[in-house]
Amino acid sequence: MKLLVAKSAGFCFGVKRAMDMALEAAKKYPKDLCTLGPLIHNPQAVKFLEQLGVKVKNRLENIPRGTVIFRSHGVSLKDLKKAREKKLHIIDATCPIVKKAQYFAKFLYRHGYTVLIVGDPHHPEVEAIQSDIKDRVEVVENVETIQRLGPWEKLGIVAQTTQSFHLFKEIVTISLEKAKEVRVFNTICQATTIRQKEAVEIAKKVECMIVVGGKNSGNTQRLAGICREIQPNTYHIETVKELNPKWLAKREKIGLTAGASTPLWTIKEVEERIRTFKSRNH
Ligand code: SF4
Repeated sequence: MKLLVAKSAGFCFGVKRAMDMALEAAKKYPKDLCTLGPLIHNPQAVKFLEQLGVKVKNRLENIPRGTVIFRSHGVSLKDLKKAREKKLHIIDATCPIVKKAQYFAKFLYRHGYTVLIVGDPHHPEVEAIQSDIKDRVEVVENVETIQRLGPWEKLGIVAQTTQSFHLFKEIVTISLEKAKEVRVFNTICQATTIRQKEAVEIAKKVECMIVVGGKNSGNTQRLAGICREIQPNTYHIETVKELNPKWLAKREKIGLTAGASTPLWTIKEVEERIRTFKSRNH
C-alpha cells in the first residue's frame, strides 16, 4: 500500500502563531483568560486549550475582566471597541495575512469602490472584514449570487483568505461584465493555495482520499470538496475514530491531507491507523 501524505497538511503559519500566543498566555495569565470564540476551528485543539485554562467566550458581554485573545480570523471593529471600553487586556492573534485582506477592503471602500468579498458570509473572518465597511459591500460565495448582483460603476474585489482560487477567478471574470471599473486584490493566502494544489495532485494519484479537520472548519470543508471533485472516494473526518476501515479495503494508493487548523497529533493518529490497518490486511 502506498500512503501519500501532503507536506502542507496541518497548522498554517497563522494558526500556529495563534496557538503559540494562547499557550504563552496560559503560562503568563493563569486567571481570567479566554478567547473570543473558539481560537481555531478544531474542537480537539480548543479542548486542549481549555484544559490549560484558556476558556471560550462567544460574546464580549460575558467577559467582565481579564485577558481576551482575538483569534486568527480577526475581530470586528465593534468588538475591538467594546473590549477597549471594558479595559480588557487584549492579545491580538489575528493572522497578519487576514489583516492585509481587511486593509485592502478598507482601501477599496475609501477609494469609492463597492467592495465584493468572495467568501462565506457567516465566517468570522468575512464578518470581521465586512464590519469596517458601512455600506457598499457584498459577500458572494458562489457564481449564482454574483449573477444576481450589480451593475456597478466601480467594483473592488477581495477574497476570504482560505477561498478556492478557482472560484475567485470565476467571480472576477463574471464581475468584468458587471462593472465599468474592476480592481482586484487577490488576498487568498499562499498557504491555502499550496495546500489546495498539493491536495489536487495527490487526489489525482490515489483511489481514496482522507481529509482530516474540524467539521466546522471552512478551509477543511473546501479542501474535501476540491478533492471530491477529482476523487469521489474522499472522506472528511475530524478524528481517527471516524476512520472507517471499509474505505481503505482493497485500495492500493491512499492520500491524506488536513486543514489549516488540524493539529499534527490528530494527523499522525490517522496516518498510523491507516498504516496499521493496511499492514494487517496484506
Ligand atoms: S490560512 Fe493563511 S491567512 Fe488564514 S490563518 Fe492561516 S496563514 Fe493566516
